[in-house]
Amino acid sequence: MTTLSPALSSVADKSADRVYNFSAGPSVLPESVLRQAQNDLWNIFGSGIGILEHSHRGPAYDRVLAEALEDVRDVGNVPDDYDIMFVQGGATTQCFMVPMNFAAGKKSDYFLTGKWASDSVKEAQKLSDVNIVASSKETKYDRIPDCSDWKFTNDAVYCHITSNNTIAGTQWKNPPEHPGGAWIACDASSDIFSCPIDFTKYGMVYAGAQKNLGPAGTVLVIAKKDVVASGRDDLPEMLKYKVHAAKESRYNTPPTFGIYLIGQVIKWIRAEGGTQAMAERNEAKARIIYDFLDESEFYKAHAQTESRSLMNITFTTPSAELDSKFIDEAAKKGLDGLAGHRSLGGMRASIYNAFPAQGCVALVDFMKEFELANKG
Ligand SMILES: *Cc1c(COP(=O)(O)O)cnc(C)c1O
Repeated sequence: MTTLSPALSSVADKSADRVYNFSAGPSVLPESVLRQAQNDLWNIFGSGIGILEHSHRGPAYDRVLAEALEDVRDVGNVPDDYDIMFVQGGATTQCFMVPMNFAAGKKSDYFLTGKWASDSVKEAQKLSDVNIVASSKETKYDRIPDCSDWKFTNDAVYCHITSNNTIAGTQWKNPPEHPGGAWIACDASSDIFSCPIDFTKYGMVYAGAQKNLGPAGTVLVIAKKDVVASGRDDLPEMLKYKVHAAKESRYNTPPTFGIYLIGQVIKWIRAEGGTQAMAERNEAKARIIYDFLDESEFYKAHAQTESRSLMNITFTTPSAELDSKFIDEAAKKGLDGLAGHRSLGGMRASIYNAFPAQGCVALVDFMKEFELANKG
């Protein structure tokens, strides 16, 4: 049995009636948050009404929304000149909302580093004159392209990156700086608040909630106020960031439960020591698995070492048959959701903020056992 480093011993293990959930998204949430939500679903703040049943214009929801906005700003260290918004439609809606608001008929730069980046590019191409700064498609998105290969457009409005490529398992260490002064737009769906973020390096950061923040459908958008103000006016109201910002995420009936739960997860991050503590914990958790992969001749990691994600760890056994067997046998042992994305195959261990360290140890123990039983 691999032993757990002292830095991780405070990370709660899962409860006995739950399994280790390695799902890429929707994914594991903090148990204490789920327990609190069970109570608040019944009766929040002693109001005699559950969170799902409160008016989005009443005092209980006023408090939920105000706290969520305040806590995101505080825990996320979001500067005052940035708007915080909750919108709907998943991160996929951001793929077109960003170019629609800011780059219709203008130039934009994109890094093609994965399947989600590719979806962003496809939508942007319908609206904007898109330049691909660099791509790792040729090597199955196994890396963040080296900066010697970047080709920027000088007069691009913004430059889009995907900070963590959920499917291939790669992650940016730092955002690029655009030589023409374009602001950086970042899809941070699968690594938001897994570590501290310096928002001053971005014009906009957005994240679908279902990986590190809460329920699917709701999206957190954090954008510089002057970027928001520069958005087009002649769009449907629901598609304008400036409307959501001005109406404080209450232009229509918002996804109240999603916003409530994101707020609870942010409170949990604070209680656990904040985003810096998350970063340390996530590094230690990922190291348990990567250290083992580095020693192994049986398993092969998909991502290049210097581009590795701390959130999604992708690997294979020597054959596709053994991969399937691995996934089936692991699930029987309470290690669930390890199948890689259908576009890549192999295995993927998603170990977001709320994933317990003991689950990483359990995975490595299983990997050793499986190797012994199956190596030729
Ligand atoms: C999951 C994911 C998406 C898609 O999110 P939806 O909520 O399904 O629209 C987009 N980008 C990244 C990086 C993701 O991980």
